[in-house]
Amino acid sequence: MNADLERLIALQALDSKTMAAEKLLASEPERLKSLDARLEHARLQVATAKEQLTQNQAARRELEKNIAVHQGRLSKFREQGMNVKTNQEYHAIQHEIAFAQTEIKTIEDKELELMMSADDLSATVKKAEAELSTEQKKAEAEKKAIAAEHAEKKSLVDQLKQERSGVVAGLAANVLAMFEQVSKKRNGVAMAEARDGICTICHVRMRPQVFNTVLKNEQIMQCDSCQRILFHIPKTVTADTNTPAS
Ligand SMILES: [Zn+2]
Repeated sequence: MNADLERLIALQALDSKTMAAEKLLASEPERLKSLDARLEHARLQVATAKEQLTQNQAARRELEKNIAVHQGRLSKFREQGMNVKTNQEYHAIQHEIAFAQTEIKTIEDKELELMMSADDLSATVKKAEAELSTEQKKAEAEKKAIAAEHAEKKSLVDQLKQERSGVVAGLAANVLAMFEQVSKKRNGVAMAEARDGICTICHVRMRPQVFNTVLKNEQIMQCDSCQRILFHIPKTVTADTNTPAS
């Protein structure tokens, strides 16, 4: 194989690995943001549940106060009932007493309802708190994993850059310039395998004469359609010398 072609294939493999690592590094802020958003959502669930429980307790206190008011009136009417002079007065007081008792009963029913929903609300608070705690642990673990991956990918990128300089140093300047130009135009993928007469990246069929030349791997040939530099992998060679396409 042409020595420059071999170096170009190695260069592409390094560039593709670098791009993959850099893509992962670039996705970190978004991943951290979504972790924070999940935590924030869980915190909000706890706060909402607690607020509802607080409101329930406040409403119950308000009902207790109303009951006390009606009970005060009730005692007053009962006291007055002992001193009535006429039948009419007696009936009027009885009427007031019955009214106050009905009011108290109605408020007590409401209070009972609130107490029952308070049980549900307490359970909701506990559940939300448990979910928050789970999310916090998960987020902590994921942040650690992201930090570890960050360090690993950073050092990989450094290592790949060093390897790249080594490969570039051995390349003919005009060949390197061609590679860089195509790479820039084609999202970092400057090399394309030719197989069965077709450029495997742009899928355009090449002229037989071009394909026959590419088969020999002795010249730097570009695809007529996408301008990528073509190479051929003989059938007996395993795929691990292939160039990652993206
Ligand atoms: Zn092509």
